[in-house]
Amino acid sequence: MYPRIIVKINKLRENIEKISDIVHKKNMSYMLVTKVFRADRDILKLISDLDFDYIADSRIMNLKNIHNLQINKKKVLLRIPMISELEDVVKYSDIALISELKTIKKLSEEAKKQNKNFGLILMIDIGDLREGIYNEDHNIYIKEILDSDNLYLEGIGTNLTCYGGIIPDEENMSRLSKLASDIEHEFDIKLNIVSGGNSSSYYMLDKIPENINNLRLGELVIFGRESAFIQNIDFLHQDVFEIQAEVVEVKEKDSKPVGTSTFNAFAKKVEFEDRGIIKRAILAIGKQDVDHNYLKPVNEDIEILGGSSDHLILNVTGLETEVGDIISFVPEYTGVLNAFTSDYVHKSIK
Ligand SMILES: *Cc1c(COP(=O)(O)O)cnc(C)c1O
Repeated sequence: MYPRIIVKINKLRENIEKISDIVHKKNMSYMLVTKVFRADRDILKLISDLDFDYIADSRIMNLKNIHNLQINKKKVLLRIPMISELEDVVKYSDIALISELKTIKKLSEEAKKQNKNFGLILMIDIGDLREGIYNEDHNIYIKEILDSDNLYLEGIGTNLTCYGGIIPDEENMSRLSKLASDIEHEFDIKLNIVSGGNSSSYYMLDKIPENINNLRLGELVIFGRESAFIQNIDFLHQDVFEIQAEVVEVKEKDSKPVGTSTFNAFAKKVEFEDRGIIKRAILAIGKQDVDHNYLKPVNEDIEILGGSSDHLILNVTGLETEVGDIISFVPEYTGVLNAFTSDYVHKSIK
């Protein structure tokens, strides 16, 4: 059935194994970030035996879906929680990232209600300007967590290269490292986790200060690419996923639309270059499945011309393409996210 996304599970397993080796040799742990494939149950069943340390996802709904799978790893909620979802947060995760006193107080009440001891990682904003406390007295937050019933401080963490495009470097990493030591001295505690960021921290693995002992990794492991400089890692697979769609029309037509020009399906003015007659194929896949901006045809002679909600139009001039053919694409991160989010895309694990 098409469109479909194919998961090459052995390639994913190999990527996880290699990164586990590298990270553990540095005496660090890592969270496998599953949000891009929506913590898909069937995928998780086939990788849960591997040596990653935590399962981490941004949505509690995804963690709820895998709640009854027998996986012997702690579950971490990556997006700082909504107050309105705290019941599920406590029920379906073990650790959450946190940055607000009000949420800490409410979490304590909820954890008490459920008679569970819940772990928190206090997020520190070191310049990317997404989540985390910023130029505030961290002691107030640490004290609040340490003093709260049914909560414990698992550690601290930071997030980079998400909103502000700031990469980890020796300066901001040593600030995080110093903050961790200060907290340990001040409160006479040991932080279990000092989480130094996501796939953009991989490039400086050899230079990360010693007490930063955890990373949260999605893109690196799943797409074989670090995200500070967007470089493929040569010993990892970049093609864990493939998307396939079926051709429903092939015709020779003009390259420039004919008639009075107005807006396209997305209320945008469009302009076309006249390249004469070309061979065009329509595929039964559209933005309701995967946004074509995040797809790259495997066959490099195929050009994506455009698409709408349900159709994708290709230039297949010079190719043997026929109705009923299946065309393959390598999806970007957002393409995989789209595919797993859309009910219309079939999932196939190979
Ligand atoms: C998505 C996410 C990550 C993982 O990012 P990658 O670039 O895919 O490694 C880590 N931390 C948080 C808070 C996230 O939301």
